[in-house]
Amino acid sequence: MKVKVAINGYGTIGKRVADAINLQKDMEVVGVTKTKPDFEAKLAVEKGYKLYVAIPERIEFFEKAEVKVEGTIDDLLEKVDVVVDCSPNKVGAENKPKYEKAGVKAVFQGGEKSHVAEVSFNALANYDEARGKNFVRVVSCNTTGLARFISVVKSVADVKKVRATMIRRVVDPKEDKKGLVNGIMPDPVKLPSHHAEDVKTVLPDVNIVTTAFKVPTTLMHVHGISIELDGKLEDIVAALEEEPRIMLVSEEDGFTSTAKIIEYARELRMRYDIFENVVWRESLAIHEGELFAVQAIHQEAIVVPENVDAIRAMFEIAEKEESIRMTNETLGIK
Ligand code: NAD
Repeated sequence: MKVKVAINGYGTIGKRVADAINLQKDMEVVGVTKTKPDFEAKLAVEKGYKLYVAIPERIEFFEKAEVKVEGTIDDLLEKVDVVVDCSPNKVGAENKPKYEKAGVKAVFQGGEKSHVAEVSFNALANYDEARGKNFVRVVSCNTTGLARFISVVKSVADVKKVRATMIRRVVDPKEDKKGLVNGIMPDPVKLPSHHAEDVKTVLPDVNIVTTAFKVPTTLMHVHGISIELDGKLEDIVAALEEEPRIMLVSEEDGFTSTAKIIEYARELRMRYDIFENVVWRESLAIHEGELFAVQAIHQEAIVVPENVDAIRAMFEIAEKEESIRMTNETLGIK
């Protein structure tokens, strides 16, 4: 039996989650939704996805544009076991009553407040907490990056406190309506940033404070992390090397910036998707009991494997290690 999945909101995250689910043998994409009959809607149909209208009143725009739809979100919800809500920030919470009414489970994204779901989720940090749940929220890209890194370090060291600075890409590449052309924006100006609290939704026992800045780039985020701990650098490096969802790269190999990481990924993956945390090997050092690290996060892709694992946990169809292994294998995460 395959879990039947709907993707509500076929945007940056939605299209990637749809393609990832398509690769799994224990789940299938029954349909995806769009609000407008634009090129993304047309591409979805060309790729073979059944298209539904996210906002039912807009069906006439699709008819006028001669884009074939199978019905509305309400029709789609009747056919599925779970919906992955990939609508814009805060819209997921507005959509939730629809899911409750239809009696389907839902996975929400990091742009929603944590109380939209019963549990916030990161596969390495707290897979088992999502077991059997009806509403799960996959934490945001920055939080996923932090939660993974801290989880791996915690597996081999006694973590006392974490301090991290996020240097955030201002918008995604496609977002031509907003941005920051020339400046560095403390976001927020008043510290701390929300990322620390968000990490605690999946790693509640970690003492963490974060700060964040937006910069005029669209490719990736970069995190500067320091962790006060009891542990050995060689154990930490070995644990990071062993974890497939962490990719260690080296300046020596030419990885001098996020631009070079993306150039590498252009050869490696469709849409240059990097599902892994990219950690610079040379940045790893322990100084006076503090581990230092610098990592880059591809915001458009990093949460994709977690969405797949969240579904397996919710339907209790695989144990943590098994789910992560299957997801990694299908997405080429080694
Ligand atoms: P996006 O704008 O690229 O895609 C959102 C899609 O939802 C669009 O296709 C839009 O037309 C559609 N939509 C609009 N209103 C809708 C409605 N009422 N119902 C259903 N669909 C609707 O946004 P995104 O970047 O994919 O973000 C989606 C979610 O994922 C947000 O919660 C965001 O915070 C989170 N997230 C985004 C990133 C990122 O960097 N892009 C990373 C991690 C998490």
